[in-house]
Amino acid sequence: METRSCGACTLCCRLPEIELLSKPANEPCVNCVTGQGCRIYDDRPDLCRDFLCAWMTDLELGAEWDPTVAKMMVYGQGKQLTVLVDPDHPLSWREEPYAAQLGSWATAAADDGGYVIVFVGDDVHKIVPAIPAAKA
Ligand code: SF4
Ligand code: SF4
Repeated sequence: METRSCGACTLCCRLPEIELLSKPANEPCVNCVTGQGCRIYDDRPDLCRDFLCAWMTDLELGAEWDPTVAKMMVYGQGKQLTVLVDPDHPLSWREEPYAAQLGSWATAAADDGGYVIVFVGDDVHKIVPAIPAAKA
C-alpha cells in the first residue's frame, strides 16, 4: 500500500496560525528547521501530532499536490476546505492544474453546503463554484 511522508516539507509549521504555540500565520514555528522538520519532534504537541494535510491523507491526489510542489497546503475543517498558499509563491493557486482543481472541489463541496477558502498572506479568497449549465 502506498504511503506518504512529509519529506522536506515544513509548510504546516510555517503557514497556519497556531495559537497554542503563539505562532503567527506565515512565520516559522520556533521549533521548525526549514527543510528538515521539527526539532522537538518526539515531544511536539498533540495538535501537531494529529495534523495531516490532504496530500498526506488522500492518496488519490497526484504528485502535483505535494505541498513542496504546489506551494500550498490543503486541509479540511468541517465544511470548509482550507488552502494556505505560500506567500513566497502567491499566484500558485491561480495556475493550472491548481485553479481548475480548486474550482472542481468548490463545485463538489457546494452540493453539500461546503466551500473552498484560499488564504494568501492577508488576502482571503472564496472559490466560486461552477454554475451548472441550464437545461434546455
Ligand atoms: S503540509 Fe502536509 S506534507 Fe507538509 S509537513 Fe505538513 S502534513 Fe507534511
Ligand atoms: S512544534 Fe514542531 S511540529 Fe509543531 S508547528 Fe512547531 S515545528 Fe511544527
